[in-house]
Amino acid sequence: MSEQITEKGGISVQTEHIFPIIKKWLYSEKEIFLREIVSNACDAVTKLKRLGSLGQVSGIEDSFKILVKADKEAKTITVSDNGIGMTEEELKKYICQIALSGALDFIQKYEGESEDAAKNGIIGHFGLGFYSSFMVSDRVDIITRSYTGAPALKWSCNDAGEYEITPDYDKPERGTDVVMHIAEDEEEYLEDGKLLEILHRYCAFMPVEIYFEGEKKPEPEEKQDGEEAKEAEEKEAKEPEAPKPINDTHPLWQKNPSDCTEQEYLDFYHKVFGDYRDPLFYIHLNADYPLNFRGILYFPRINHEYESLEGQVKLYYNQVFVADNIKEVIPEYLLMLKGVLDCPELPLNVSRSYLQNSGYVAKISAHITKKVADKLISLFSTEREKYEKLWTDLKTFVEYACLRDRKFYDRVKNYVLLPLTDGAFMTTEEYLEDAKAVHENVVYYASDKVAQAQYIAMFHAQGIKVVLLDKLIDAQFISTVEGDRGIKFYRVDADIAGALKGEGEEYSSEALTALFKKVSGNEKLGVSYQNLKDAAIPAILNISEQSRRFEDMMRMYAMGNGEDAPSMPQEATLVLNANSPLIRKLGEKAENGSEDAEKTAKQVYTLALLAQRQLTAEELRAFLSDSYGMLEKQME
Ligand code: ADP
Repeated sequence: MSEQITEKGGISVQTEHIFPIIKKWLYSEKEIFLREIVSNACDAVTKLKRLGSLGQVSGIEDSFKILVKADKEAKTITVSDNGIGMTEEELKKYICQIALSGALDFIQKYEGESEDAAKNGIIGHFGLGFYSSFMVSDRVDIITRSYTGAPALKWSCNDAGEYEITPDYDKPERGTDVVMHIAEDEEEYLEDGKLLEILHRYCAFMPVEIYFEGEKKPEPEEKQDGEEAKEAEEKEAKEPEAPKPINDTHPLWQKNPSDCTEQEYLDFYHKVFGDYRDPLFYIHLNADYPLNFRGILYFPRINHEYESLEGQVKLYYNQVFVADNIKEVIPEYLLMLKGVLDCPELPLNVSRSYLQNSGYVAKISAHITKKVADKLISLFSTEREKYEKLWTDLKTFVEYACLRDRKFYDRVKNYVLLPLTDGAFMTTEEYLEDAKAVHENVVYYASDKVAQAQYIAMFHAQGIKVVLLDKLIDAQFISTVEGDRGIKFYRVDADIAGALKGEGEEYSSEALTALFKKVSGNEKLGVSYQNLKDAAIPAILNISEQSRRFEDMMRMYAMGNGEDAPSMPQEATLVLNANSPLIRKLGEKAENGSEDAEKTAKQVYTLALLAQRQLTAEELRAFLSDSYGMLEKQME
């Protein structure tokens, strides 16, 4: 059949606008052209299948497939499907008119906005359908034959938007071939590796089998001799392996949770996220009316506090990959999870600001948040031991989520565990209940098990449990809990717990107080006298919880700005133990104005300081030299 051209056309007025814009605006994510063309091919198959199941067409075979073929010599990428095809009328309507008018709407919407806004807008993420093929092509042909039996035709359009239609084109099979003639500076897209990478990213779960045919394998040059030749012959004699589709047409998230095995969930995770470690646990989301979305969320193992706060939640639209980590759809604090979400009702062809304000999206977020909370509660209630084992990994995530979302906090607050310095775990409720006999409405904690060892030991000696809160985020989290429950968290060096106070004769000495103020070099140092149960400890330093938290905050702030931490006077109180024989003797000497008293007081003060924090270089130097001096004196 000779190719006769009956119609030439131009998309005149619109062309000038659209083609340059397609090329320019879509620049940052050119590769999505393949997703658009392949997903159109999927749609064409799905439409035909639907007609078949509605009984509107008969005799439709089952072997639906899509073939992606690259030809380096001809410089073409061809996507072929055996779907519904198009009649000439449909092609004119869907390709020449509708698509472009849609694009025009789009352009009008973004007119006046900066180029960046457009790029960051919908375009980069959701593409522009069929016409995105012009990002990489200087000509695109559509050769199509409708299922209706109407004659096949070829449509060919250059990158200036001028097209021609060849009717009665020779295409015996039903379906559509989209042939993209790749532009000179886009030839990287002809490489097998590049194409496969794009297909794996965007098309891995599309619902129709996709096959890839890259460069032809070079023919064997010469017959080999001997063993090798025999082996080669044997190999040839074997049935050639059937080609495998590059995609999984029935992804796990589309299945019923009750039909999925633990192993399937784990395999899916390893494969999709390339993480060799097992996730902590997973949630299969399966929301029906009115939300209608599916997905699987995994809690990854987090080794360090900030290691993988950056998770990966892949968003799909009917099994077509849209983007990773869409902040408008997934609550920000859940972005540290890994998983897949398929939202077939998400109006993807709208701007991100619409997504932000869309009630639908807010509902998806709320649903996910609730499911995550439910999962934690069910683990707590039915598998406490496992929950405790997971807690170290979960803690940062849960605290972070609580800080970001009050509703989430309210849901899970009774299931948040506090790790104790002895390795056990308790909820706040359990801690308070356990401590009731000794102290009320206070949780004692340490932020550094080693540096605060002496304080921790003092608390333990009195049967008071100490919580270990050694992460940056803990400080923020505990103030939320304090505000909510009307309780207090005191660091072990902040307050002499009632339980540490013992019986004994009251004692105080003005001379001793003055002496300690002097040796500390801090006139504002508070000095108080308490009868502590442990008589072996002469003095301990208490730093007001409030002033220390404020200082910590300032320090973090300064660190964040790359400045030196401001040195702030802390509200410190030196508690002298009225039950300590050393303090009593020192008191006597101070009263008598003995010279030794000052040296001893300095030493006692520095030791109290040492038990509370690291000494500065200057303090350490003075402490060592004083100590050596005292040792020498002992030897005299
Ligand atoms: P969208 O897919 O968002 O509708 P496109 O510009 O990608 O927009 O495609 C426009 C229309 O062209 C499609 O809706 C479909 O009717 C038709 N079309 C595109 N590709 C094919 C194909 N491979 N087979 C049949 N029809 C197609």
